[in-house]
Amino acid sequence: MSRVAPSIDDLLCEGCGYNLAGLPPDGACPECGRSVRSSAIDNGRHATPYEIDRNYRATLFRWIIAPTRSARGISVGTHPRENRFAWRTLILVACFAWPGVMLHLRFVFTSISPLWRIPDGLSGWLTFAGIGMLIPMLGGFLMSPGVGIRLIAWLTSLEGAYWGYRLPAARVRRVLCYLTSQFVPWAGLASCLIMLYMLLRTQGHLPDHPPHWYLYGLSAFVVIASVAIFATYVRAMGAIRYANQTQSPVES
Ligand SMILES: [Zn+2]
Repeated sequence: MSRVAPSIDDLLCEGCGYNLAGLPPDGACPECGRSVRSSAIDNGRHATPYEIDRNYRATLFRWIIAPTRSARGISVGTHPRENRFAWRTLILVACFAWPGVMLHLRFVFTSISPLWRIPDGLSGWLTFAGIGMLIPMLGGFLMSPGVGIRLIAWLTSLEGAYWGYRLPAARVRRVLCYLTSQFVPWAGLASCLIMLYMLLRTQGHLPDHPPHWYLYGLSAFVVIASVAIFATYVRAMGAIRYANQTQSPVES
């Protein structure tokens, strides 16, 4: 049965989601005992380092290593730089994915299923390099703040409202922009593994190794990465479902 999500102005306990309306600032949550102050004024939510002093690398690193903690510490007001962060990160992901996609396409279309007549040598490599960059760029565009992130935020908001969680699309969207960081290590790892495989293959270390093993391995990798990223997304949404709006000088 669906429940009614609290309104955007309700003050919720950051610990358990109890509605703290009417309680004094020095009081405690009747449900879990957490101080009202730690949910209202000192709730530990701030703008990201990228929004405060344009520190992209620190923000990226933080959201890769500790996404749930980062989501628990992010202010929930929107900020224009969140879109910029997502774009920068998606371009980085495309660059990390590029060698892997290029080598993968070359292997599939020359060794496993030589469908196209692609010339050998430099022109062939350039063809794969071009397509290998186009695919991750297209993926990045589909995942961008105006397209994929917007759609996922809208669906998450609907789902949250059904279960009675306060997850306005703008807040979800904000966190998703920073969660694009999660694609960086997976794209890098995928490219490294594909490069290693191709290196071992060309060096003759994998004699009589059927190519479909490679495809099974790659499929397993994609499934593991997708499950891990989805689990991170669910935990991050849990970290903002009781978040309260706080005043911060850098928010707009
Ligand atoms: Zn509580």
